[in-house]
Amino acid sequence: MHPDFKQFPIPSGERQLILLPYAAMTSNTVSDIPLLRGPVPLSRLFVRCFVSEGDRVVDATCGNGHDTLALAERTGSNGRVWGFDIQEQSIAETGRRLSEAGLADRVTLVHAGHEEMAQHLNGPVKLVLFNLGYLPGGDRRVITRPATTGIALDQTLKLLAVGGIVIVTVYPGHEGGGAEQKSVDDWANALDPREYHSWRMGQVNVVSDAPYTLLVQKAA
Ligand code: SAM
Repeated sequence: MHPDFKQFPIPSGERQLILLPYAAMTSNTVSDIPLLRGPVPLSRLFVRCFVSEGDRVVDATCGNGHDTLALAERTGSNGRVWGFDIQEQSIAETGRRLSEAGLADRVTLVHAGHEEMAQHLNGPVKLVLFNLGYLPGGDRRVITRPATTGIALDQTLKLLAVGGIVIVTVYPGHEGGGAEQKSVDDWANALDPREYHSWRMGQVNVVSDAPYTLLVQKAA
């Protein structure tokens, strides 16, 4: 059984798998998962569920490197992580964070847009993670854009392994975020259900333009 899943007795004496959120929060092998406030911890739960030691994965938006580090921890010394960002500052900060953790050798950092992803790696990959919007603490005018995000999402589908997932954290609240929200929602909605399982998940007791999660799994 996968080490993240634990068993517990039920009255009949049989045993069954425990629920995913508990499993994802009990291991101490990756960064701690905080309370489920907003979509980022939710995306970490899915990473824990779908990504294993030795997997090849992509962080399409490195930003400050938090997600890249979590992926490097998860995939282990036999895995590979590719990380993309258009900002030098993000690549430098992500590199610094990885070096501090002693995990820089697990990650190929690419100072380029994710729309060039297919030029830098071949499939299959288990996961591609997008955290859209602007760099927290950085220049808020530098944001992900519908046109380039769309190109990257299309490339992602070709790179994904069967069963692999793309997770997109969508931020409708900033200027330009509404247009990007529409574009990525349309993209996910249009995917053929015989080939992809598309999901949209969001916290409901928050403002209406709060960030949310899109998840697409390649089914065939
Ligand atoms: N995942 C990051 C983390 O853990 O800190 C946060 C990502 S931040 C919300 C979004 C990032 O996307 C910014 O650093 C921005 O520079 C980057 N970005 C914008 N357009 C991009 C593109 N075309 N390709 C790759 N990264 C892009």
